[in-house]
Amino acid sequence: MRCGLIGHEGILSVFDHPVSPKSRLAPLLQVLEHHVAGFARNADCRAITISFPGIVTRDGKVLSTPRGKFEDAPDIDLAAWANERFGLRLIMENDARMALLGECAAGAAQNCTDVVIVMLGTGVGTAVMIHGALLRGAHVQAGCLGGHIPARFDGRLCICGAIGCVEAEASTWALDAIARELHADGEGNLPLPSQLDFATVFRRSAAGDSFMTKVRDHCLNVWSAGIVGLIHAYDPSVVVLGGGVMASADQIIPAVSSYIERHAFTWWGKPELRAAKLGPDAALIGAWPLLQQCL
Ligand SMILES: [Zn+2]
Repeated sequence: MRCGLIGHEGILSVFDHPVSPKSRLAPLLQVLEHHVAGFARNADCRAITISFPGIVTRDGKVLSTPRGKFEDAPDIDLAAWANERFGLRLIMENDARMALLGECAAGAAQNCTDVVIVMLGTGVGTAVMIHGALLRGAHVQAGCLGGHIPARFDGRLCICGAIGCVEAEASTWALDAIARELHADGEGNLPLPSQLDFATVFRRSAAGDSFMTKVRDHCLNVWSAGIVGLIHAYDPSVVVLGGGVMASADQIIPAVSSYIERHAFTWWGKPELRAAKLGPDAALIGAWPLLQQCL
């Protein structure tokens, strides 16, 4: 969890707090209170924004939480919490949407109005901007479920209930199962580390490990197919790729760009694929444009 004080000049102060994969939200509110109280002592705070990894409303209701994280969040009245503890208004948005706002304000998509962002990591988060406005939809989930576009009709069951989603076929939470499935296809007896991660896959692949190259190429193809699907659906000029996996951007950007060049159906040219620039600060920086829209 990253907690920051944001002003028009950018990030003024930041604190990080470790969060376990199955963490509940209620205990973290005490940590948040500590930091927000510190910020409020030193600045004229106007509002609290929360960037949340799930489907949320801007007035602070959590509607859906993926992967068992923050499962208690739908039962917490975050707007009341912010008002009672600090007398401040709370504005909440999906984390990929906040990262997209940040990258458009000060990162890889400055001055762009039609952008898709894809955050590769534990899962695959996405968000869409069309004509400068975030796509939100009738049930606040439009553009956010790019990780749950089917990549294989006969793939594995995803945590969302669908089959063969991009996220189920190429993300950290599914990586062990993906590698074991590919391994079972007959690549000899290479031992697999438990809890395989993408840093290991890309490092070993770069060092010439043929099996890890097979895993890497499988995931690159899944991400690429999903991104071409997003391009066909949302007509962006720029696609931003972010998330922890982008530590290996030197291997990812050329492969996905080549796939887009070969397979995207775009009469006007090809969308430009760019690596995100702001890393874990993107959502914090996105708080400022979000507040400009909402206050
Ligand atoms: Zn899914």
